[in-house]
Amino acid sequence: MNFDLTPEQDQLRDAVRALGRKYGHGYFVEKARAGEHTTELWDDAGRLGYLGVNIPTEYGGGGGGITELAIVCEELAAAGCPLLLLVVSPAIVATVIAKHGTDDQRERFLPGMADGSLKVVFAITEPEAGSNFHRLGTVARRDGDDWVLSGRKCYISGVDEAQYVLVVARTEDASTGKLKPALFVVPTDAPGLTHSKLDMEIVSPENQFLLYLDDVRLPADALVGESLDAGLPALFAGLNPERITVAAMGAGTGRYAIERASDYTATRKVWGGRSIGSHQGVSHPLAHAAVQVELARLMIYKAATLYDAGRDLEAGVAGNMAKYAAGEAAALAVDTAVQALGGAGMTTEYGVATLLGAVRAGRIAPVSREMILNFVAQHVLGQDKSY
Ligand SMILES: Cc1cc2nc3c(=O)[nH]c(=O)nc-3n(C[C@H](O)[C@H](O)[C@H](O)COP(=O)(O)OP(=O)(O)OC[C@H]3O[C@@H](n4cnc5c(N)ncnc54)[C@H](O)[C@@H]3O)c2cc1C
Repeated sequence: MNFDLTPEQDQLRDAVRALGRKYGHGYFVEKARAGEHTTELWDDAGRLGYLGVNIPTEYGGGGGGITELAIVCEELAAAGCPLLLLVVSPAIVATVIAKHGTDDQRERFLPGMADGSLKVVFAITEPEAGSNFHRLGTVARRDGDDWVLSGRKCYISGVDEAQYVLVVARTEDASTGKLKPALFVVPTDAPGLTHSKLDMEIVSPENQFLLYLDDVRLPADALVGESLDAGLPALFAGLNPERITVAAMGAGTGRYAIERASDYTATRKVWGGRSIGSHQGVSHPLAHAAVQVELARLMIYKAATLYDAGRDLEAGVAGNMAKYAAGEAAALAVDTAVQALGGAGMTTEYGVATLLGAVRAGRIAPVSREMILNFVAQHVLGQDKSY
């Protein structure tokens, strides 16, 4: 058993940390408040190769795995810059295209995703279907060689900054009630595709959107893979990377909050010469949160290692557990940090309360804590499905 990163992974961690600190949480919040995107950070990360660490080298990537991408997600978040689009574009979409796309799709999409010039977002959630993607109502209809897509999606992150969206639809003749998914790469400026911004209580430069597909006509090669049979494996290919990288982002956010609070409590004095951190009522909750974050990190890197070794089923269990643990740990860490900072915890200046919305959302998306518990109850504990 080896808990060490390789020297290359260590170097990557240090380099990404340096980039994240160059920008920092102040920059992230400033962009969010101005309704702008973190374009400078994204472009720098792309230029330095961090956005493509998991993309094969023949397409301009680093040739690493989800472990490397988790390191990038964690370290940027630990610097106060949790970038959700890392989870969407390089983790989900690049994996789906690299593993299940056609040669032409790999050549068209992967180099741009590797250098960050191309963002592709991901749309599965629908208003009616919610957590139950077997009920997806976005339908893909064949018309000659073309595909025609109709449906509605919600909470889709980053539509305004992406050139394409990977849409999960179902084929019209899949009338068994079971989802036969089909994935399509849809240009965000395609006729018939419109979006409207959702107002969210999250301080983030990345936004969520309602997406309307009204007879969006696509050429045959918009379908991911060589045939409709690629749909289900392609969809599942994206899920483990999504869970692992979103968990890494949560763990990084937790680390960031605990570091901010510990720096403060070690020096803040309101009772004579003692720091407030010398009181166990202040230090123990922070120490407890630090333990939870570290435990989540263990599961994240276990899941990433299993995934990169091609052990998908085990990675599925570990990835779900990691996502659950990191979601809870991040929410605990940020809440605890706010409390330890007292009034300063609620100021914008100290940069912790600004993360409350994001970590709360991390217990809901991209898969809720309840759906993970359902998964563990069924697949690990052998319980009957409750729904
Ligand atoms: C910030 C943010 C970004 C997002 N980005 C994207 C994106 O880029 N692309 C995308 O496709 N989606 C995105 N989503 C959507 C997200 O994946 C969904 O919100 C999430 O999967 C939950 O679905 P829902 O909101 O429809 O909740 P619902 O399915 O309506 O569930 C509501 C509540 O009921 C619980 N529940 C439902 N069914 C069960 C059950 N059987 N057993 C126990 N509990 C149950 C859920 O856990 C949840 O707590 C995003 C959401 C947020 C908040």
